[in-house]
Amino acid sequence: MQSMLDAPVTVLPGIGEKRAQTIRALGLETVRDVLFSYPRDYKDFQKTVAPEQVKIDTPQLTFGQLTNLTERRISRGRRIIQGQLGQSLRLTWFVYHKGHGSSYLYRKLERAGRLWVYGVPRPGLFGPEMSSPEVFLRAPKYPLLPVYPLAAGISNDQRLRWAETALKHLEFLPECLPEAVRGTRLGRREAIREIHFPRDWTSYERARERLVFEEFFLFLLGLQRGKRHADGIAHQSDGELVKRYFANLPFTLTKGQREAIEQVALDMEARRPMRRLIQGDVGSGKTVVAEYAAVKAAASFGQVAMMVPTEVLARQMVQRLKNSLEPLGLAVELLIGNMKAKEQARVRAALESGDCNVVVGTHALITEKVNFRHLTLAIVDEQHRFGVRQRSALLGKGNADLLVMSATPIPRSLALTMYADLDTTEIRDLPAGRTPIDTRLVDPVRRDEVYRYVVTRVRQGEQAYVVFPLVEESEHMDLKAATQEMVDLQRGPLAKVRVGLIHGQMGKEKDEVFAAFAAGEIDVLLATTVIEVGMDVPNATVMVIENAERFGLAQLHQLRGRVGRGSKPGICFLLAYNLSPHSRERLEVVRRSNDGFFIAEEDLRLRGPGDLLGVRQWGQPFFRLADLEEDTEILQQAAGQVEKLLIQDPTLASYPELAGELERVAW
Ligand code: ADP
Ligand code: MG
Repeated sequence: MQSMLDAPVTVLPGIGEKRAQTIRALGLETVRDVLFSYPRDYKDFQKTVAPEQVKIDTPQLTFGQLTNLTERRISRGRRIIQGQLGQSLRLTWFVYHKGHGSSYLYRKLERAGRLWVYGVPRPGLFGPEMSSPEVFLRAPKYPLLPVYPLAAGISNDQRLRWAETALKHLEFLPECLPEAVRGTRLGRREAIREIHFPRDWTSYERARERLVFEEFFLFLLGLQRGKRHADGIAHQSDGELVKRYFANLPFTLTKGQREAIEQVALDMEARRPMRRLIQGDVGSGKTVVAEYAAVKAAASFGQVAMMVPTEVLARQMVQRLKNSLEPLGLAVELLIGNMKAKEQARVRAALESGDCNVVVGTHALITEKVNFRHLTLAIVDEQHRFGVRQRSALLGKGNADLLVMSATPIPRSLALTMYADLDTTEIRDLPAGRTPIDTRLVDPVRRDEVYRYVVTRVRQGEQAYVVFPLVEESEHMDLKAATQEMVDLQRGPLAKVRVGLIHGQMGKEKDEVFAAFAAGEIDVLLATTVIEVGMDVPNATVMVIENAERFGLAQLHQLRGRVGRGSKPGICFLLAYNLSPHSRERLEVVRRSNDGFFIAEEDLRLRGPGDLLGVRQWGQPFFRLADLEEDTEILQQAAGQVEKLLIQDPTLASYPELAGELERVAW
């Protein structure tokens, strides 16, 4: 149902077409989006403290008479404004003002006399001082002032005003939870109002609890409802084609691989749709299981779609599948956004006609334009990079079986949520003869030696990775620092070998550089964490990880899994520049153990749950408020309610508002 809530943000004050574009980048397109994008914090204006009584080092609001006001020019264009509030609190502002006369802020303060300021008092020479506090001429309107996530060119004030206006349309927002499910929780409208403008902290807590519950409830309901789907496809039992696939395999399967394959065979032959997760450490050989499933599907005249998180991985995977499946007479194609339109159209046509048996791709696979003749198997590799919605979008292209593969061990409560609809098989062993990666924790004074060693191995025909930390690739400074270091290496210690450079913000060239590395035309690949998942270049044997202390343990383990994948043993150097006893203890875990599950558990123990790498990545796309580690109790409650409701009304026929909301939530 269309309502005022679906109106574009341009109906809000001060938002023209141009600004709306900036805002869209924030994911805010409609009035509803504004309502559902919550403050990230609040400023506590509930109490006003006298200037003589402020507490050091805590943010607070104070009110008093402003005296001793001065403004001085400190350099070209820069001014310092100083004053005193009440008897003892010193205030300082720095402003940018080029013209003659006094600055705007100075004139405002001069006229004000008595005012409110909000800031953090620090101890100064002559008593407490506040630097650049916020100024209010009138008493702040809200007891808890919302602070919204920032975006370039948009002030918190503006953001706040949009929320205020959007709330005027709140009457159009239906309650989506059935009475019985909601229980004593806040109603939806009240919760939304209170999360933006809480009356006090208790009220905030109640609003948050309600909305977190709603997030979990809708999420789990979406998953569970999908599980009770109708009949799937019963694939045929293994025949000639599968036999030929196994005969061509250049190695013997591990026990774990054999068991996983047997399980997948049972799943695929049954009429009940397969929903299986294969979890196995890096290098445990999950791809073989996927290949087997693909051959089996093709032997039953079905098509296969495999979705991977990045274009680089897609290119690599398609190459692997071409090598192993084309000899069996199967047609394998690539479909990614970064391909000529004509080529994309050709692949799409081949999928529609059924000429293509297996397609590997990125998100490009789930766009509307892609149609299959008869899709019977959907494979999602490195699952943690995808949302549930993308997973079901792929499934929706046919009545397909689903095989999901993941290397990232995750905490149990999280697994319960993410995999609520999946049956799990673990591969716990590694292929025989795989020597554990020799991991060394190296003092930076020996950095040159490490790079000399890299060069030695390159001379022997092997290849290496050097990895730089870049937590957030959008952080400009970080990227600049990393690229500078890369360039320095390229000019210095690695001047005599062929070096390639790759980071997340590169476009197409990224693929080219990586292809060159895979082809052996580049000896050393300098990279940010873009290489973290799934890459497979067996000739790469050495890895250097710069600033290893800045990585998560699970991530380090993933990274070093990129070397030692062939017959030659791998070696990994961890260079740590800021080694506290705590970070030494953490890195020692990775140095001593090669067991991804153990490492994930230790990571959890040493860092505390919220920090665990991956948790954020996991949670973020699904939940706005919910914290998967903190809110487990609410999670359990939601799970219980979902189960009850689905028993009572599996199709949600008597809950149209709820069914409607399910369609809408952005997973
Ligand atoms: P991951 O589980 O990390 O996706 P892959 O499927 O990419 O692992 O396999 C890692 C490497 O191990 C590949 O080069 C693959 O050819 C090889 N491999 C897989 N299974 C075996 C096996 N049973 N014996 C030897 N090598 C294997
Ligand atoms: Mg893999």
